[in-house]
Amino acid sequence: MDRYDVVVVGGSFAGLSAAMQLARARRRLLLVDAGSPRNRFAKTSHGFLGQDGVQPAEIMRQGLTQLSRYPSVDFVHAHASDVSGDDAGIALRLSDGAEVGARKLILATGVVDELPLETMMPRWGVSVLHCPYCHGYEVRDRRMAVIANAPGTAHQAVILPDWGPTTYFSQGMFEPSKEEAALLTTRGVEIERTPVVELLGEGTAIRALRLADGREVPAEVVFTAPKTRVSSSLAEQLGCAFTEGPTGSYIQVDQLQQTSVAGVFAAGDAASAMYNATLASAAGVMAGVAAHRALVMEEATGSRDRP
Ligand SMILES: Cc1cc2nc3c(=O)[nH]c(=O)nc-3n(C[C@H](O)[C@H](O)[C@H](O)COP(=O)(O)OP(=O)(O)OC[C@H]3O[C@@H](n4cnc5c(N)ncnc54)[C@H](O)[C@@H]3O)c2cc1C
Repeated sequence: MDRYDVVVVGGSFAGLSAAMQLARARRRLLLVDAGSPRNRFAKTSHGFLGQDGVQPAEIMRQGLTQLSRYPSVDFVHAHASDVSGDDAGIALRLSDGAEVGARKLILATGVVDELPLETMMPRWGVSVLHCPYCHGYEVRDRRMAVIANAPGTAHQAVILPDWGPTTYFSQGMFEPSKEEAALLTTRGVEIERTPVVELLGEGTAIRALRLADGREVPAEVVFTAPKTRVSSSLAEQLGCAFTEGPTGSYIQVDQLQQTSVAGVFAAGDAASAMYNATLASAAGVMAGVAAHRALVMEEATGSRDRP
């Protein structure tokens, strides 16, 4: 069994950023990636410094090309399915049948989105969006609908008028508080309480929303907060603690991205309630640095963290 200093699972914004720090620290590392980053549904990525408007796949290609120049890095395109930990470190089984060992593990597996309406999926990342900072500018001045799917969605409707005229659909479940209702009014946001049951329009376009009472309300862009779940069971298999967030639970970490299990770090969307490529990358940098520091301390003091 190959044994690495660190295995990083997930090779997108968080995982590549973590791996880069460890590669530059000349540590032997394996990056395992299944190749399904969360933003793969969008044509272009926005707001990431130096990469604004670039295709997500191209950003990943550049990151991997640059990482591959470091001689201590191995990369495998595979799914890590099973993990266990003991005094000797971490053991991982991959979908290609390989078994690998590591002294430290970084989980950067991202999350999976569960959209509230079936008719949203074909439009996801095009006319159905989750983040105005990521894609609001590209759809500016169009008729916006916020379809509530989690507590706090009314706040999204409060900020959205900076991009276009907005209606907040509470779905009859996420009634704005008194304060939120006042803010929505001040910002010129209309409130509709009858649930939206279907998006109408050709292909990925939206022309209107069909409500449960049969009415059709014109709209061109929908913002919503999908339910999320961490996209791999590795953290659960290791017994990592989770934190409940507004859209789903995520891996609990401290300021150094250390999970509740010694020697196991987590970064990016899988370990955050705030979803953004730059933030995922920053957390990855921290996880990489913290894992390196843990290796150094272990070697210097002879005491080993038990995973
Ligand atoms: C439609 C859409 C558009 C977005 N646009 C933007 C934008 O323009 N700007 C912005 O800042 N943010 C954007 N985001 C948010 C951004 O995509 C995420 O914050 C970011 O991708 C998180 O990076 P990550 O590395 O944590 O996870 P991800 O990018 O989701 O990557 C996780 C990787 O881990 C791999 N993986 C998972 N489990 C395993 C396993 N068991 N074994 C091996 N590999 C595994 C996956 O295949 C994937 O490649 C968008 C999100 C969506 C949904």
